[in-house]
Amino acid sequence: MNSSVNLIVGAGFSGSVIANLIANILNEKVLIIDKKDHIAGNCYDYRDNNGIMIHKYGSHIFHTNSEEVWEFVRQFTDFNQYMHKVYAVIDGIKTTIPFNFNTLYDVFPAALAKRLEEKLLSNFKYNTKVPILEFQKQDDEDLKFLAEYIYEKVFLHYTTKQWGVSPSDVDSAVTARVPVYLSKDNRYFQDKYQGIPLEGYTKIVEKMLKHPNIEVRLNTEFKNVEKDNFKRIFYTGAIDEFFDYKFGELPYRSVNFKFETKTCEFYQKNSVVNYPCNYDFTRIHEYKHYLDDKSDKTVIAKEYSESFELGKNERYYPIPTEDNIALYCKYLEKAKTLENVYFLGRLGDYKYYDMDKAILRAMQLFNEVKNA
Ligand code: UDP
Repeated sequence: MNSSVNLIVGAGFSGSVIANLIANILNEKVLIIDKKDHIAGNCYDYRDNNGIMIHKYGSHIFHTNSEEVWEFVRQFTDFNQYMHKVYAVIDGIKTTIPFNFNTLYDVFPAALAKRLEEKLLSNFKYNTKVPILEFQKQDDEDLKFLAEYIYEKVFLHYTTKQWGVSPSDVDSAVTARVPVYLSKDNRYFQDKYQGIPLEGYTKIVEKMLKHPNIEVRLNTEFKNVEKDNFKRIFYTGAIDEFFDYKFGELPYRSVNFKFETKTCEFYQKNSVVNYPCNYDFTRIHEYKHYLDDKSDKTVIAKEYSESFELGKNERYYPIPTEDNIALYCKYLEKAKTLENVYFLGRLGDYKYYDMDKAILRAMQLFNEVKNA
């Protein structure tokens, strides 16, 4: 590879951040391709004919504690001050997720809630977060009862729907994303910076890619591009696909969103309502809450999880079990033998990144490559 052009495969956040940095800081040419007919990958959003900003691949809420990431994205957008809250319907009661002291009082009679609250406060520090699999390790009978209740009502069925296996069979980091929160803070995230970009995520990516050094080609498959002529290749697609699945397919979970437009101002009081116990779907998204869009209609999406099947649906979530990570490591070893080819992103790294972590990873990889 001796051309001066960099090939980037995938125009989601990972690919677009690295494209921007290479074009801007190294002043090198970039060709960025995507097999989809749009940029922004699974963060893609658009305004529908009612003027409502739709997140095509499910709700995306930006949140980060990284000054570096925040400073970087703020070059491309302002954010509103939206603080994400998630409600859940448990046995017909609408309450807050993560399970916190407010949830306790929503789902139990006041006297029982008070007793449990006191026990919690004498066993844990206020404002701490305890993953459910840790929380289950209790000796006190009341707290054992509470742990079993939360496990059953919040995690068991939701996780089985979402991952096809029970909470003890997914990586503990997955359920730890939504801990039991010994607090009255109803927010889903406690990050220092959070919000929804005022013009949406697609606009951020569009601005990242708007540079004289960057050419964007949509509807373009990697396999149809002549590869010998690039200075470097950054690949944000699935690493197993890159190597023609030579060690076998890496499993993923996929999601199917069933969209409905309703003729009413609001369908639910909140952007996301989880259904951890009943129904086949995991949650319902209502998009107009994010940017406070005004319309006499509203758009909702019911989210159904399913396993990823090549050619049938999209990859959304890597499944970090021991076997899958071992398989990924085989591909990673193979990747290390290639010169000037770099893998990144949820699919390239086979990691369950949030947006900020995907951006940080792209920034860090850029720094490594720049100094190489
Ligand atoms: N989870 C659950 N019940 C809930 C919410 C989350 O069991 O009501 C578990 C489930 O296993 C899920 C994981 O916590 O996959 C992470 O949830 P999060 O909301 O972070 O998932 P994402 O928004 O990334 O799909």
